[in-house]
Amino acid sequence: MSYDPNNVFARILRGEIPNNTVYEDDHVLAFHDISPARPVHVLVIPKGPYKSLTEMAQHGKDEEIAALFRAIEKVATLTRVRDSGYRVITNIGEDGGQEVPHLHFHVLGGGPVGPMLKR
Ligand code: AMP
Repeated sequence: MSYDPNNVFARILRGEIPNNTVYEDDHVLAFHDISPARPVHVLVIPKGPYKSLTEMAQHGKDEEIAALFRAIEKVATLTRVRDSGYRVITNIGEDGGQEVPHLHFHVLGGGPVGPMLKR
């Protein structure tokens, strides 16, 4: 399935839906999750139309990929979780539990995040 330009994060990138921005540069936007699962819960997304990590790894420019990785660290610094620790999650596709079909990294912290996955 190809990229859906009407997904909610594409609409945020076009300015059609408001967001609470934490960080932005030429390639990346980071904003607070609307339904935070931890005291710090920020979503870091590429500005390019990539459905998931799979598509960005296959088709993204190295510059875009590097910017996304570096933005995660910047968000951790700006939200003051860098030194105490935090978790980064990206869900991919159906089995991964991805809801919004635009690549996003969840940055979670502000206290112990908890066990990685329940067994
Ligand atoms: P995922 O299940 O990995 O696709 O995560 C989607 C995330 O997007 C969830 O944590 C939602 O709370 C979040 N979300 C959905 N709509 C918005 C929005 N308009 N602004 C901020 N976060 C959103």
